[in-house]
Amino acid sequence: MTFDVAIIGAGVSGLSAAYELKGRGYNVVVLERQVRSGGNAQSERFDGFLMEHGPSSVNAQAMETVGLARDLGLNTLRAELGNAVKSRYLVGAGCLKGISTHPLGFLMSGYLSPRARLRLLAEMLVPGRKSGPEETISEFWTRRFGREFNDKVIEPLVAGLYAGKADNLSVDAVFPAIVEMERQYGSISHAVLKKRIASGKMPGRRLFSWRDGIGTLPAALASDVGDAVKTGVTVISIKRSAHAYNIKTARSGNLSARAVIIATQPHVAAALLEDMDATGAEAISEIAAPSVAVAFFGFRREQVAHPLDGLGYLAPACEKRPLSGALFPSSMFKNRAPEGHVALSGYVGGARAPEMARMSVEDITALALEEFRDLLGVKGKPVVFRVRQWQQGLPQLTTGHTGRLKRIEDAEDRHPGLFITGNYFAGPAVATCVKQSLEMCKRTDGYLRGLYSMEEPENSNFAKTAFP
Ligand SMILES: Cc1cc2nc3c(=O)[nH]c(=O)nc-3n(C[C@H](O)[C@H](O)[C@H](O)COP(=O)(O)OP(=O)(O)OC[C@H]3O[C@@H](n4cnc5c(N)ncnc54)[C@H](O)[C@@H]3O)c2cc1C
Repeated sequence: MTFDVAIIGAGVSGLSAAYELKGRGYNVVVLERQVRSGGNAQSERFDGFLMEHGPSSVNAQAMETVGLARDLGLNTLRAELGNAVKSRYLVGAGCLKGISTHPLGFLMSGYLSPRARLRLLAEMLVPGRKSGPEETISEFWTRRFGREFNDKVIEPLVAGLYAGKADNLSVDAVFPAIVEMERQYGSISHAVLKKRIASGKMPGRRLFSWRDGIGTLPAALASDVGDAVKTGVTVISIKRSAHAYNIKTARSGNLSARAVIIATQPHVAAALLEDMDATGAEAISEIAAPSVAVAFFGFRREQVAHPLDGLGYLAPACEKRPLSGALFPSSMFKNRAPEGHVALSGYVGGARAPEMARMSVEDITALALEEFRDLLGVKGKPVVFRVRQWQQGLPQLTTGHTGRLKRIEDAEDRHPGLFITGNYFAGPAVATCVKQSLEMCKRTDGYLRGLYSMEEPENSNFAKTAFP
């Protein structure tokens, strides 16, 4: 049997594509190496706690724009950020400093030196750059807002959100909207003020999850796609023949499809593409995804001295802490810990120190516990703890990323019917992965329509069933 589309990888990217293409009437199969679908998006409930092994919140505005969660009927299951989330915390001089997200509150907080605060205010006077060589995140933010703001605010933010280093990542790839603000308004402060005046509120990120965690999204997608998702199937090669792609699996035989979508982590995509298109494979293999680990703990409330009245905390590299940061899941959302208990998630590794995420589970547990004792006043043994290690963590959109994307796009063009998606194109956020895949599906749809319109109707199942 020849499928219309074979999708390799059942993470959020692959499943969104499967949902969309099935909805357009195509005969789809999704091949997933693991026994569970969802990829990074795994939520696990145990002993009344909910641990997020990967993503723990989603950008509301971005998710609402793609509309997928609404179409799946997931809006009634949403969990909104709790009232307990009042502050943002950053590590400064070895302890946690509560920082207001309001610019004025931030300026008054004393987290930055008086000199750095003056430099922040002077941003409006820094001439805007309309063009020029690509900058790293550090170069951009230092040029506009000063070194201290970059090192003590932007650098930890980048480590927390992208498990990356601000000195390596491309500002164009990671913060395209901010770069555009400079191009359009000449100053970021000016652009933000204009937006504030126009909308009546500060532009910002609103986060949400679902009652049973982020795993709700891939679970709903997989349930909609149904039997077409085949778990425990590892794809080992893709070969192109005259009319189809032949897909070989490790132990589950071979299959063919008119179009193939690679929706895996970048290192797997590069390996699968190697024989077919060495240039495209090389471009993808340049995208590193350094290891990260999540150390999850549950405590009785009285064991933690800190009020946990925030999302969590971020640790600037200059503080030399073993964790890049932590989240307070039971403050963020309801049902993350049993009554009278709290949950903490610490993040280890990423581009700053990938080797730390590969230490033994015992060492990661001990390290995170020690850190929580020091920064959050945790006492005694945790009620529960668990560590999740990701050998391949978040993809790093380093400088040169635009050029790499162009080389990947060229590879797709050389092989009609080959499509590539994932978290290494526009960014790793779940909503961005969904958007990227849905955009790609338009091209897949266009390709299949073209193919079927050239065939005799009696040879085409699709022409009979999908477009009566
Ligand atoms: C620790 C962590 C925290 C994060 N936090 C957030 C957050 O708070 N908010 C947010 O928006 N995003 C967050 N992210 C990012 C986000 O979770 C990921 O970018 C996104 O889930 C990736 O989805 P994907 O489908 O592109 O890739 P993946 O989830 O990696 O899925 C790829 C799939 O391909 C499968 N596969 C690989 N090789 C093969 C093969 N040969 N054959 C068949 N199948 C194969 C894999 O098993 C996997 O299931 C986080 C990620 C991590 C790791």
